[in-house]
Amino acid sequence: MRKKIHNLCLGILLLAFCICLLTANLLEESQSDSQKPWQEYSEMEQAIWEDVKYFPVPEFTSDPTLTVSYENSWMAERTYGGKRGHEGTDIMAAKNERGLYPIVSMTDGVVTKKGWLEKGGYRIGIVSPNGVYFYYAHLDSYADIEVGDEVKAGDILGYMGDSGYGPEGTVGQFAVHLHLGIYIYPNGEETSVNPYWILRYIENRKVKCYTKM
Ligand SMILES: [Zn+2]
Repeated sequence: MRKKIHNLCLGILLLAFCICLLTANLLEESQSDSQKPWQEYSEMEQAIWEDVKYFPVPEFTSDPTLTVSYENSWMAERTYGGKRGHEGTDIMAAKNERGLYPIVSMTDGVVTKKGWLEKGGYRIGIVSPNGVYFYYAHLDSYADIEVGDEVKAGDILGYMGDSGYGPEGTVGQFAVHLHLGIYIYPNGEETSVNPYWILRYIENRKVKCYTKM
């Protein structure tokens, strides 16, 4: 009888041990599975830091009053065209004059989008070498570039304006500013990234502008 109980105990212990091993294995597997998308996301985020070279608005050395300012308005509420979160950073002009501040490309890349969007106004889209999409919106006018053109970081894309929030040509619905959006595509899914910290990171890397460019 005692031997039987002893065997039973041993059996139960062995079974418990097996269950433990099995669950540990399963846990490990599901963890590495769920880490994969995050790994791809973090690698792509890393790619943004690698690609950015310049702040998108130059510094006016001839007139230090022509500054810009921005704050972390990530996902702040926007109501035009339905309630939504703000997917980007607005870089506001100290002087509210359209066509005054040049916009330069933050990265090398290829122009993939140009033209009017109801919300974005005159916008330009650049894909950087690591496949990050940079969206510059509400422009007043464009530099001499077309879809398919290659650009270098620091090249002028156009001039800051207040276009958008209506049919093509609409201006004056808000103050002059650049809306900057940054998008990555982990697992083929469009994901917007908060540009605020990237702008802070390159705040001191501005193209110098001596006269009106
Ligand atoms: Zn905006």
